[in-house]
Amino acid sequence: MIRLAIQAKGRLNEESVALLAEAGVAIEESKRKLLTQSNDFPLEVLYLRDDDIPQAVAMGVADVGIVGLNEVEEKGFDVDIAHKLGFGKCRISLAVPKSEEYNGLSYFNGKRIATSYPVILSKFFKENNINAEIHEIAGSVEIAPSVGMADAIFDIVSSGGTLVTNGLREVEKVMFSEAVLIANKNLNEEKQQLLSQLLFRFESVERSKGMKYVLMNLPHAKIEEAIAILPGMKSPTILPLAQEGWSSIHVVINERELWGKIEALKAIGAEDILVLSLEKMIL
Ligand code: ATP
Ligand code: MG
Repeated sequence: MIRLAIQAKGRLNEESVALLAEAGVAIEESKRKLLTQSNDFPLEVLYLRDDDIPQAVAMGVADVGIVGLNEVEEKGFDVDIAHKLGFGKCRISLAVPKSEEYNGLSYFNGKRIATSYPVILSKFFKENNINAEIHEIAGSVEIAPSVGMADAIFDIVSSGGTLVTNGLREVEKVMFSEAVLIANKNLNEEKQQLLSQLLFRFESVERSKGMKYVLMNLPHAKIEEAIAILPGMKSPTILPLAQEGWSSIHVVINERELWGKIEALKAIGAEDILVLSLEKMIL
């Protein structure tokens, strides 16, 4: 049995549960319980505030956890980052009132900065020889300058909409973050085994994201040209068709490249092109 801590509610909760489901680890929605067990994988989920997840994993209260890299950095507990999960992407940035003239980091010397990430910020200022006053506040950081609590802020930004609404301008991107799977450093063999099994499943889910399974018919004579156009896990699968002189080609293509490849294939005579969604890619 392995115990996974995830955020009880908030921005990372839904995607954490969805990732588990895609990896074949179904969790019953019972929000009132702190701990739930999966029926189809030896895993139990512990629901916590995201702030508490790094410590829970470091102490071994949970074996693994899904949490933002920003929280891992801020809390500073000694845990392994087992995998980057690709969701919950954001950055932590310094922002100043938009009317202020900003001409580089030295702007912050002697200024008061409001943030929920004092550790990350003081490390950054130290590395850059900036002397500023850091004011730790738990929430609503973005209103601190307009109410006179601070001169600038250091906070999470994703689209930047909140900054604009509060009359602020992002001037320094200090850290990029995304959800990560963290692990306790002293997992026993059974738990390590379960962790690798989980990672294998996560990777298969990720690999299939944005990939399409494409089938098409092509004259035999054009196969070499088609191979040159197509990527493929190994090489495209080529099957003879009942119709003399024609083959069926099957290949996995990244969605980003899909239209370009299809146009190139049509140009060399591909017909009857089918594009199917791909659920899992297990290598
Ligand atoms: P908790 O109640 O668990 O303490 P919280 O209010 O501290 O939750 P959330 O706002 O739910 O935290 O954000 C959780 C994490 O999601 C953040 O630490 C960050 O890694 C990521 N995150 C936050 N804001 C955004 C955003 N706008 N876009 C993408 N990811 C974000
Ligand atoms: Mg929190």
